[in-house]
Amino acid sequence: MKEEGYCYKMNNIYSLSNIDIEKWRKKSNQIIIPIGSLEQHGPHLPVSTDTIIIEHLAKTIAEKIQSLYIPAITFGISFEHEPLFNISLSHTTFSNLIGDICVSLAKYGMKNIILLNGHHGNMGSMYYISQNVSHKIPPNTRLNFINYWNLMNDFDHAGEIETSLLLAINTKLVKMKMARANTKEINGSKVAYTSLTSTPGSFPKITGNGVWGDPTKASIIKGRSLLDDLIQKLEQTIIEFQEF
Ligand SMILES: [Zn+2]
Repeated sequence: MKEEGYCYKMNNIYSLSNIDIEKWRKKSNQIIIPIGSLEQHGPHLPVSTDTIIIEHLAKTIAEKIQSLYIPAITFGISFEHEPLFNISLSHTTFSNLIGDICVSLAKYGMKNIILLNGHHGNMGSMYYISQNVSHKIPPNTRLNFINYWNLMNDFDHAGEIETSLLLAINTKLVKMKMARANTKEINGSKVAYTSLTSTPGSFPKITGNGVWGDPTKASIIKGRSLLDDLIQKLEQTIIEFQEF
């Protein structure tokens, strides 16, 4: 593994030179693209929560499986959080942005590109990235995407689960004294909820305060356990990709 003057532990292309990346490409042609969002996450979490979680997962899994990763894409599609804070790209802009990144990496010779998605609102657009770029990339390029919450039994927004994850990643970013559960009762089915939250401005209307779940139940221990489980399942999923 060791090579003079070179550290394979540096996985984020942001810190690597062209020569470093060349060396990486010869060893591993796999690269992870973490994709987050900037949107309200209640009064107790930063707007960058999805981005922080997804970059943490990308970094951890990249080190584990000897892969490169790029800095997280901070901007996603979060119109559902209007009129609370969000920065949102239109579907076309988002799709072109992610697609262009994939094309650059594929043309450079990356054969396994993994899009790691950290935000629900990006999902619809991401289903079509592969279709949109297939005619622009070498035919032997593998392009897969994972919504990380699909690897979990349950999920929320700024509730117990997401707050626990952030506590485990960086406690200083969480203001637990400000944490409050959703102020409107959420009764609908997951199918109804998923459909409703794709409408701009729907999230604050459904939850009352922009929180879905109860963050007061969050803890670092829960977060660490969730992260361990996530990393294990992510690794399994990436191995499965390589079988096809
Ligand atoms: Zn989130």
